[in-house]
Amino acid sequence: MQKIDNYDFSGKRAIVRVDFNVPLNESFQITDDTRIRAAIPTLKKVLAGGGSLIIMSHLGRPKGPTGKYSLKHIIGDIETKLGTKIKFAPDCMGEEAAELSKTLKPGEVLLLENLRFYAEEEGKPRDLAEDASDEVKKAAKADMKEKQKDFTKKLASYADCYINDAFGTAHRAHASTALIAKYFPNDKMFGYVMEGEIIAIDKVLKTPAHPVTAILGGAKISTKIAIIEKLFDVVDNMIIAGGMVYTFVKAQGGKIGSSLCEEDQMPLALSILEKAKAKNVKIYFSGEVVIADAFSADANTKVCLDSEIPDGWMGMDAAESTLKEWEGVLRASKTILWNGPVGVFEMEKFAVGTKKIATMLADVTKHGVFTLVGGGDSVAAVTQMGFADKVSYVSTGGGAMLEYLEGIELPGIKAIRE
Ligand code: AMP
Repeated sequence: MQKIDNYDFSGKRAIVRVDFNVPLNESFQITDDTRIRAAIPTLKKVLAGGGSLIIMSHLGRPKGPTGKYSLKHIIGDIETKLGTKIKFAPDCMGEEAAELSKTLKPGEVLLLENLRFYAEEEGKPRDLAEDASDEVKKAAKADMKEKQKDFTKKLASYADCYINDAFGTAHRAHASTALIAKYFPNDKMFGYVMEGEIIAIDKVLKTPAHPVTAILGGAKISTKIAIIEKLFDVVDNMIIAGGMVYTFVKAQGGKIGSSLCEEDQMPLALSILEKAKAKNVKIYFSGEVVIADAFSADANTKVCLDSEIPDGWMGMDAAESTLKEWEGVLRASKTILWNGPVGVFEMEKFAVGTKKIATMLADVTKHGVFTLVGGGDSVAAVTQMGFADKVSYVSTGGGAMLEYLEGIELPGIKAIRE
């Protein structure tokens, strides 16, 4: 497999799929440039090696071309970070894109307009009536497949080599994230973001230092089941926290008041506990929790056991005694994976537990523990607290990381490896 560090970029045009899907405010200013910053080392590597760059990305979920989701809004930011002027092709399939890519000189950079202005990028027919017959749907899909091939081939025609550095979309088999790779059988590689993500997650999944502890929070167990089960093969301890806990507590006969609960998942919750026992994984639940008499920032609160919540009250955050217990587990661990907040952290009052976890992870990292944080909310928590560079690795791809943890071979990774 080709590696970015060994590849000779001199005189080559590299088409790089990045994840520049950054949040913009109403004046189209970037409010969080993490994803752009992350891709800069890859982009600079190509330029330093004497190559030129064709940068491609999606932004938002447009249904067609629209100024709102134009990548022109981020040109200035990329120029500042790369320290060079960049060219812009206002239509990724247009003549200008083809012409500009053909005439790119070493050191030059071309940014293509939002790939998702074309349905071909994702390969899903748009404007298909919901009540369309199966036959019509089938024909539209077949037609889109053909169009997607042409779209992919044209993108590939712009360049001599392909780099995928968009971990956030690696779980999607889109034109620019997976399909394009086959046009570069000997000239395709991961960028540094992708390499870093794969190394970090593999460090937890494949070669972790034990004891390994996973902290899984968030709202629903239904979305985390596959990960929980997969992680049983890897972890020694699992802290199950957040809204997920109450389904387990109720399934075991506890009183959870009006806490979040997925009744239909209760049998599964019990079977998970059995599996944990069989695999020798120690499970930690909340113990004491902060409960509230309404799902509201100004609700009344008190502390009680997660299995003795009075009617009309709901569990909202981990209590101090629980956090103390978890701290002991975390301090005795050598590898920690954290996904999902341990409370309703959007409300300041119930963000205490989530912040404490972020603080503890930053602290144990100083003492040599490998700490991997992933998933939108937990990443937001460490970032807001300024701890993003105080943990070992922050995964930028929410959905992609979860699927990778589940053991699914991501199309974006497979396309480079095969
Ligand atoms: P997820 O997307 O599954 O990781 O869930 C994240 C959401 O879980 C956040 O919006 C949190 O507010 C929510 N959450 C965490 N703890 C609780 C809780 N005890 N009750 C309800 N929601 C919670």
